[in-house]
Parts: sequence; structure tokens; C-alpha cells
Amino acid sequence: MDCECLAGCPFFNDLMTSMPSSTELIKKTYCLKDWAHCARYVVFKHKGRQAVPLDLFPTQIDRVGEILK
Ligand code: SF4
Repeated sequence: MDCECLAGCPFFNDLMTSMPSSTELIKKTYCLKDWAHCARYVVFKHKGRQAVPLDLFPTQIDRVGEILK
């Protein structure tokens, strides 16, 4: 099942100012499969879309604790 944020997600739609070299693999791993563990998705679920930093990558789960404080 795809992530519910897919359509409006800056990462999935290549709208972030910088994108990691492994973007396509990250999309397959997170956006199209394991979205529950995506850092952007976790922040979205807890604090809403406006709270998700534009520069937050799906793999940066270590940043989530600070963002959710
Ligand atoms: S898994 Fe994360 S990066 Fe992918 S569409 Fe959902 S919120 Fe965006």
C-alpha cells in the first residue's frame, strides 16, 4: 500500500532543495511500502503536515524526537 501523503509530499515529488543520491530506492522502501517508518510521515501523523521540515528525509528518523518536542 502507498503512503497516504504521496500526492502532496515534497520528497516523493522531487520538490526538496536537495535530494539524496538514493532517492529512488528510498521512495521504493518508504513511500511505496514502509511509510509508517518514514521520518516525514511520523511527524505528519503527530503534528500535521505544516510541522514537517522541508529538508527532512524519510531516513532521518533520528531527527523526529527533536521535531516533536
Ligand atoms: S513515505 Fe514519507 S516521503 Fe514518502 S510520501 Fe510518505 S511522507 Fe512522503
